[in-house]
Amino acid sequence: MREKLEKWMAGRYGADELSKACMVVSLICIILSWFVLRDVLMVLAAAGIVLCYYRILSRNITARRKENLRYLKLTNPVRQWILRQMRDMRTRRTHHIYRCPECGQRIRIPRGKGRICITCPRCKKEFTKRS
Ligand SMILES: [Zn+2]
Repeated sequence: MREKLEKWMAGRYGADELSKACMVVSLICIILSWFVLRDVLMVLAAAGIVLCYYRILSRNITARRKENLRYLKLTNPVRQWILRQMRDMRTRRTHHIYRCPECGQRIRIPRGKGRICITCPRCKKEFTKRS
């Protein structure tokens, strides 16, 4: 069974970030359709699922790669912001995040060291903060 599936999937594009995003948006549409705009959101969800499977099963790998690259480039600032927020949440107990008053550079300082003088690694501006 597994061999048959692998043979059938050979030469096909497979799942990527854009397909996963399509699936997530479709699922959100389905959940929202329970509360508002039932028909419109269900049609959108179905279209998203069809698009997702079309991309996964497509044999035009070059075109799918280009679409995925465009998607990644377009959403990069948002994804980076989310990753930064998640990292900050993980280190919140052990570190402070300060911004340089001169250039805005984010600086991560370990907690519990008292008042310390911080030197910005980018512009070398010095400022004092509680750690
Ligand atoms: Zn600076």
